[in-house]
Amino acid sequence: MNAVTPETTRVGIVGGGPAGLMLSHLLALAGIDSVVVEVRERAVIERTHRAGILERDSVRMLVDAGLDRVLRDGHEHRGIDLRFGGASHRVDFADLVGASTWLYPQTDVFLDLADARERDGGDVRWGVTDVEVSGVTRDPADRPVVAFTDAEGRRREVHCEVVVGSDGSRGTCRDLVPEASRRRSFREYPFAWFGILAQAPRTLDELVYARGPEGFVLVSSRTDEVQRMYVQCDPADRVEDWSDDRIWSTLQAGVAGDDGLALAEGPILERTVLPFRSFVQEPMRWGALVLAGDAAHTVPPTGAKGLNLALADVRVLAEALERTLLGDDADALDAYSARALERVWRTQHFSYWMTTLLHRLPGASAFDERRQLAELETLASSRAASTHLAECYTGWPTG
Ligand SMILES: Cc1cc2nc3c(=O)[nH]c(=O)nc-3n(C[C@H](O)[C@H](O)[C@H](O)COP(=O)(O)OP(=O)(O)OC[C@H]3O[C@@H](n4cnc5c(N)ncnc54)[C@H](O)[C@@H]3O)c2cc1C
Repeated sequence: MNAVTPETTRVGIVGGGPAGLMLSHLLALAGIDSVVVEVRERAVIERTHRAGILERDSVRMLVDAGLDRVLRDGHEHRGIDLRFGGASHRVDFADLVGASTWLYPQTDVFLDLADARERDGGDVRWGVTDVEVSGVTRDPADRPVVAFTDAEGRRREVHCEVVVGSDGSRGTCRDLVPEASRRRSFREYPFAWFGILAQAPRTLDELVYARGPEGFVLVSSRTDEVQRMYVQCDPADRVEDWSDDRIWSTLQAGVAGDDGLALAEGPILERTVLPFRSFVQEPMRWGALVLAGDAAHTVPPTGAKGLNLALADVRVLAEALERTLLGDDADALDAYSARALERVWRTQHFSYWMTTLLHRLPGASAFDERRQLAELETLASSRAASTHLAECYTGWPTG
């Protein structure tokens, strides 16, 4: 058996999604070396459609980091349509809070980051297997090791000072924190989203969040020719349970109204069932391990926060690592967890609220249904209530 030649770096990053790649990019700008290990091939991630809406500060973060394609290829959204009772009620972000969001698919965020890492000579190992992290303790003398088998089948070991677990919602880095030292909070939901990508023209310029007769509908977009739409479904539903007819009739009924709104239809290119979950693991730092993005927390997709929250973690973490590793402030990393969790819990609350506001709750009574409608009416008619939604949706300013 070949001996493993140890390599060294300052930060070992497990997971090359948006959180891991953005962190590696920001650390490189600060002159700090990192190695990213990612179990998937780059080409596979490039084709995986997920989030699509960026908060104002996520856009600013990309642009400040030299990744400004979003300003050319993204679409600025100055509001959203809340649709219920067969009518649209625009929430005008620009007017209410002087902010906007940007439609810029996660696949593009990933491409920008992966290209930047490649262009700058960043060390990203795609398509690795058998990743094992060891040596994560609270003893500052211990050095963690990220071991893995590279895409050519060679066993590797990267010795580092800090390991960042950015391995997503199914990742295992968070299990490295002993049970006695961690707290996990969950919430399951009795519904899911049935999502499609359709080859069809854009019906509307901005997103529509609808509470239709059968529950939630989201009309979003990927490009001028490809549209992203979701309908509420049962979490046990399988892709095969939904015929094209059922998909389009549920979508059309969800947005139907006196104004005659009808969605442009076209061939369905992709279909997925997206289950919902709220999850947080605290603290987000334990000894030489820090967690970032979905590895530490998951939010339901209503409100479009998952990707934004991952980037917000990284914004705080990169600064803390820079101050710790470049020697100015050895305690900076200690503050990371508390700072990040403040936003995580505000986001959990917003995502939960948007979810329960807009979905049909199975078994809901007539009272529950009417109360939900009254809440939507308050939201649409009260400037104070709309301002709250606009503030949360566009993202709280980074502290
Ligand atoms: C199907 C789907 C649809 C979504 N839709 C939306 C949406 O509409 N709006 C929204 O805001 N958010 C959405 N999200 C959430 C959003 O995509 C995530 O919040 C975002 O990707 C978080 O980024 P991340 O880097 O933390 O995690 P991820 O993007 O999950 O990246 C983690 C990476 O770690 C890798 N990995 C896992 N285990 C290991 C290991 N042991 N070693 C090395 N690498 C590992 C994975 O392959 C992955 O590439 C969706 C998520 C899913 C799954």
